[in-house]
Amino acid sequence: MVSYKDLGLVNTREMFAKAINGGYAIPAFNFNNMEQLQAIVMAAAETKSPVILQVSKGARNYANQTLLRYMAEGAVAYAKELGWEKPQIVLHLDHGDSFETCKSCVDFGFSSVMIDGSHLPYDENVAITKKVVEYAHQFDVTVEGELGVLAGVEDEVSADHHTYTRPEEVVDFVTKTGCDSLAISIGTSHGAYKFKPEQCTMDPNSGRLVPPPLAFEVLDGVMKELPGFPIVLHGSSSVPQEEVDIINANGGNLEAAVGIPEEQLRKAAASAVCKINIDSDSRLAMTAAVRKVLAEKPGEFDPRKYLGPARDSMKKLYMHKIVNVLGSDNKA
Ligand SMILES: [Zn+2]
Repeated sequence: MVSYKDLGLVNTREMFAKAINGGYAIPAFNFNNMEQLQAIVMAAAETKSPVILQVSKGARNYANQTLLRYMAEGAVAYAKELGWEKPQIVLHLDHGDSFETCKSCVDFGFSSVMIDGSHLPYDENVAITKKVVEYAHQFDVTVEGELGVLAGVEDEVSADHHTYTRPEEVVDFVTKTGCDSLAISIGTSHGAYKFKPEQCTMDPNSGRLVPPPLAFEVLDGVMKELPGFPIVLHGSSSVPQEEVDIINANGGNLEAAVGIPEEQLRKAAASAVCKINIDSDSRLAMTAAVRKVLAEKPGEFDPRKYLGPARDSMKKLYMHKIVNVLGSDNKA
């Protein structure tokens, strides 16, 4: 048993309460490798933003859970070295799919876990979430539950279409489970292809696809039922078209990739939404930078020469999200 407190990590309780009162949201960035982690920590330290490091099932399979946990511990030490005296860093399990997975993360030094029972019948979702909460709370680890189903594909999580969260269920779910935050479905989705072209309209000036707006009426309904309760949005990348263009101009083929417009995320961040998950945008920034270097310098074979620019690009992206979209800078 390793306590996250001994690793210098924090849970989400206090940071969510501050974020709701302050009208901003905490960034939850997924990480799979060193360059991504460095970029996240540098961006958070430089902007003094609390940050959630997320580990998905795919990341655990790719990078090894043990290594990822030590990397998170290293992130705290690195943040201090960068001059951030009291780093506010959460290590969070993204989309935990069973009690056993959540328990192993709690036992292993994670400060927060998500149990995703959103695909289960309601009563089973309540039961598994309650079981995880009862275990995690013994160690002061916070738990995120989910109600409603997001469309899209993210690692092993996928669904053909979304089912919006039903506001009439949220009080019952939160009361019965005791979860600390709730992920809801209001039209965000996983991956870089959040909407089919036929769901979008065309901006006549830019020729770009304009996605349909998020279902803010669902968010409003949830907030009315659960005033001041921490709400989480998954699948909230914006799919920057500049990055898509760089990828496509350098041998890539991302047709009709489209995300959630940043102004809609800004609006969400100002509400009870206090955690916003961003993964695809970092993947796009990394891929664009690597493709550009390799296309421009075909003789390059030192990974530092393309992963370095990729890291710089991701850091820039994370800082932009923190400062211009979530508003979490200078809050830690
Ligand atoms: Zn997700």
